Amino acid sequence: MTAVVDQTCAALARVSGDELPVPLVQGGTRTYANFDYAASAPALAQVTDRIQRLLPYYASVHRGAGYASRISTECYEAARGSVARFLDAADDQVVVFTRNTTDSLNLLASCVPGDTVVLDIEHHANFLPWTRHGRRVVRAADTVAETIRLLVAELCSKPAALLAVTGASNVTGEVLPLERLADIAHQCGARILVDAAQLAPHRRISLRESGIDYLAFSGHKLYAPFGSGVLVGRRDWLDRAEPYLAGGGAVRAVSTEGAEWAPAPQRHEAGSPNVLGAAAIAAACDALAAIDPDELAAHERLLADRLRDGLCAIPGVETLRIWSDSPDSVGIVAFTVAGFAPGHVAAYLSAEHAIGVRDGRFCAHPLLARLGLDAALRASIGLGTTSADIDRLVDAVATLVHRGPS
Ligand code: PLP
Repeated sequence: MTAVVDQTCAALARVSGDELPVPLVQGGTRTYANFDYAASAPALAQVTDRIQRLLPYYASVHRGAGYASRISTECYEAARGSVARFLDAADDQVVVFTRNTTDSLNLLASCVPGDTVVLDIEHHANFLPWTRHGRRVVRAADTVAETIRLLVAELCSKPAALLAVTGASNVTGEVLPLERLADIAHQCGARILVDAAQLAPHRRISLRESGIDYLAFSGHKLYAPFGSGVLVGRRDWLDRAEPYLAGGGAVRAVSTEGAEWAPAPQRHEAGSPNVLGAAAIAAACDALAAIDPDELAAHERLLADRLRDGLCAIPGVETLRIWSDSPDSVGIVAFTVAGFAPGHVAAYLSAEHAIGVRDGRFCAHPLLARLGLDAALRASIGLGTTSADIDRLVDAVATLVHRGPS
């Protein structure tokens, strides 16, 4: 089975940094084992290829008749098409390029015409921006079923414009039933936003079929680390709102009396955009769209199960969950090691084994608090992860536990 998983992995995609040699504290080097895909994923080869081809033609878009400007403009606008196809966007949904998910969510927050309901398990990016009109926080229960009941009660108790939920938890990887939540939001007269920063790299999403109204993700978590992100969503709110930034590119006409603003997406893209970033996202979307989604999910599930089982077999290691009945999760495993500070474990894995994991509170302080933790460890997998990497991480943690706290 291991060989099958690894062949599948190799066939799925090539990622940069696969052979990165890392110096070890005991001397020598070892190839890097990256378990931090959830923070930023290395560029896919298809992404770096496309960037290299576009680089000679890099120019300001929508600004000139010169050849380079025309090519850059075409690539930039074509990139919207790739994103829209990747997400199976509906006809009334526009693609706005932003800097990252945080930027996308702040942009949408400036457009929402009413209260936003959120859970207390969110990444800060999907928690802090929703204050402009009113943020109503629902405390997640121990089961998904009960959490949904609490969300329904909140949405029914008082009108809300938006339900903002994570597609996959950045701490535990758990996934909520998004189609069901979209139905519930709509029945209560609200729309739904999905923070897909962690979901989009792992699962194919059809906006049309799921009923999701707005969705945000970051290029750097989708194998396109070139500084751009995306907000896709229904045009009417975006067209009615004040421009996110005021400046060139967002206007049709300007006089000394005022401005006639352009509709979305240009309305919210003032200033010279990140053409390479948009092209990189498009290349990543095209590459991921060519992968069989069932194969991708199955590959990832095998690796994540192997990791969870391996870690749980080590005395004192506990993996974290929000819900006892979550229907699905992506390749993110958060864990603690009894007797060891998470920062110490992460430093040891890096220094002695060239393994990169994340430790801390993962920009999800309310969630860590409800899990009763000051910090934890997070191992996240992606297209470049192999079963040998998983075994290497599990063996390294087992060695540390066997050695005991120093
Ligand atoms: N939402 C989730 C679920 C995340 O995991 C992250 C980053 O880790 C963000 C939002 C913010 O992404 P960015 O820092 O790219 O804006």
